[in-house]
Amino acid sequence: MDNFLPIAYFQEKFVPFAEANISIATHALHYGTGAFGGMRGLPNPQNPREILLFRLDRHCQRLSQSAQFLHYELPAEQIQKAITEFVHQNQPQNPFYIRPFVYTSDLGIAPRLHKIEKSFFIYGIELGDYLSPDGVSCRISSWLRQEDRSLPLRGKISGAYITSSLAKTEAVESGFDEAILMNTQGKVSEASGMNIFVIRQGRIFTPPTDQDILEGITRDSLIQLARDIGLEVVERPIDKSELIIADEVFLSGTAAKVTPVKRVENFVLPSNNPLTQKLRDKLTAITENRDPTYQDWTFPISLD
Ligand code: PMP
Repeated sequence: MDNFLPIAYFQEKFVPFAEANISIATHALHYGTGAFGGMRGLPNPQNPREILLFRLDRHCQRLSQSAQFLHYELPAEQIQKAITEFVHQNQPQNPFYIRPFVYTSDLGIAPRLHKIEKSFFIYGIELGDYLSPDGVSCRISSWLRQEDRSLPLRGKISGAYITSSLAKTEAVESGFDEAILMNTQGKVSEASGMNIFVIRQGRIFTPPTDQDILEGITRDSLIQLARDIGLEVVERPIDKSELIIADEVFLSGTAAKVTPVKRVENFVLPSNNPLTQKLRDKLTAITENRDPTYQDWTFPISLD
């Protein structure tokens, strides 16, 4: 991967990406005591001197909460200000993904969160489709999604992504594109880095936020816009068998956007995905600022 945006925010300064480096003794590298955000930006198709960031406020708020789990006070406004300046410094010309990261930056050993230095950096990468928009095959993972009583799943805690990584690799190495993880209650939770929706007879179902899912910002946006166009969305626990008999299943996330699921294990799902496609198109229109109803979801940043 060499399509990083040229400038990073590191140690409270903007520096060339190649100069933003940390020590091998960094505490967070050893203990997974970091947390990150992930948001997409793109040049406004109507005005290339303007960058649109989808739901910047919510992303900053979630990262601030993730930082709180790490005993790090980092107000959302401070993150938002740094990201705005980061975009300005980079002058992106293509769609990109921003990765802000908070972490224990001390060089000491021993896992802990108290009395330890924390830091915050930001880098970016040009990013097109993360998963095929035509759809993906999913394996039900043998790895279970963690439980909130073991770690704060409402934060994007870096250490938690070992489970996502195990699940994704297990799926790919056995011939699938993506993994769907069950939770310890035996219900469907989410994919390796996406939330999940199931459509049956015109009704949309998605696991509630108490099912050990990440509170996805795309998920939240889709629930709202589906309801706004008169679709019924029900947040309730989902059984594995429902994935097999669904009319449509899709994954949602900042990177994945809305990605249809074509196959679950060896069960092929119907190939026309009318509601998934409708929601995907609507979300795309919103992120490109073509839908005035949701203008407050796209944050414009002028490059001038
Ligand atoms: N679940 C996990 C584990 C994720 O990493 C992500 C990506 N951030 C999501 C769900 C989707 O969240 P969002 O829509 O906020 O990107």
